[in-house]
Amino acid sequence: MISVDQAREIILKNIFRVKESEPIKIESALGRVCALDIKSKENIPPFDNSAMDGFAARAEDVKGSTGKNPKILEVVGSLAAGYTAGKIIRRGEAIRIMTGAPLPNGADSVVMVEDTRVVHSPQSTVHSKRKELVEIFKEIEKGENVRYSGEDVKKGEVVIPKGSILKSGHIGMLASLGFNRIKVFRKAKVAILATGDELVQIKQKLAPGKIRNSNSYSLYAQVLKAGALPILLGIARDNKKAIEDKIRQGLSADVLIVCGGVSVGDYDFVKDVLKDVGTEMKFWRVAMKPGKPLAFGLMRKVPVFGLPGNPVSGMVSFEQFVRPALLKMSGAKDIFRLRLPAVFSGNFEKKKGLRYFLRVILTNKDGRMYASLTGPQGSGILRSMVLANGIAELPEDMEAIRAGESAEVTYLE
Ligand code: AMP
Ligand code: MG
Repeated sequence: MISVDQAREIILKNIFRVKESEPIKIESALGRVCALDIKSKENIPPFDNSAMDGFAARAEDVKGSTGKNPKILEVVGSLAAGYTAGKIIRRGEAIRIMTGAPLPNGADSVVMVEDTRVVHSPQSTVHSKRKELVEIFKEIEKGENVRYSGEDVKKGEVVIPKGSILKSGHIGMLASLGFNRIKVFRKAKVAILATGDELVQIKQKLAPGKIRNSNSYSLYAQVLKAGALPILLGIARDNKKAIEDKIRQGLSADVLIVCGGVSVGDYDFVKDVLKDVGTEMKFWRVAMKPGKPLAFGLMRKVPVFGLPGNPVSGMVSFEQFVRPALLKMSGAKDIFRLRLPAVFSGNFEKKKGLRYFLRVILTNKDGRMYASLTGPQGSGILRSMVLANGIAELPEDMEAIRAGESAEVTYLE
């Protein structure tokens, strides 16, 4: 039996990135893996502009301004976002400016509108126009409320490195940089096979001794969530011929997942069949709970995971081993979830030598993260996966964890 870390290492050593990439519209790119370094061809923002609604002016002209002692500037224009001033600000002048409008030449800063009051000069003659003046109640630093060209992104900079998993921010950035398409790695195809004489399809009648095949669907969703393409191979009965027929179909996928039948029971034929079809088995047991029976091998270069049939064991094993493998295969750079320390609520005793993966509910109270068990932790309690938003990992050498002690938890988004 090997450790979780050893198993993961062996798996990842045998996983290679898909070769093909495809250009897609950025609207469809959420969650996909970027296949190229994305460099900016220009500065963002492209020009110095105002970060506020207010008055563009020269900092030295309003030096010493206070509420009681405002400096007064002449308002020589008004500038909305999307237009240019077309005039230069001279000493003693200001331009009314809106957020996002380019900073007029001559101005070096912006006074926010809240720190000003517009007044009008007295009319000197009947025909002269009244000048618009603005009182400034606060002095400003040079550059205050100005967003400089290139302060977000500089021309030539790599903004989105190859291997990034694209989030909403990336999609907006791509648009901002002028890309309506992006090259992403193709999705890995993952064939999923359930095994067991006890299994029936969702809408089939439940005869005595039968249960519905749920694992195929938990795994389907987990594969999707990991950014890959699930393919359901259905159910194989517990005999070598049936399993072999189905397993061969998995050869056209990038990865094959078989669940159930990898343990030591009389009808656990999956390992035998995998060997019969020429799979190079790397290991088949991992020191963990839930889990333990977990086979991994290469079937003519196709990585095959034999996951335990117990619904929670299968899902937890997927999280630990298949998810990082699929992300690596998809070209992603970050393949592990974030782990955080949390205060454990409750007590739990464990067997030494195995790594435990407890399903927990993470909550944030008074600035601290707490992890409480979802309830019974049996490997058949699928409810625990419904309730959990985290998995607490108890190391091999630990014997018990007590309330108030710290546990490492992965947050399941
Ligand atoms: P196995 O690993 O085949 O010995 O199965 C272990 C347990 O998981 C048994 O109680 C099975 O009935 C159950 N099981 C196996 N496959 C599935 C499945 N596809 N859906 C739901 N339960 C399953
Ligand atoms: Mg079985």
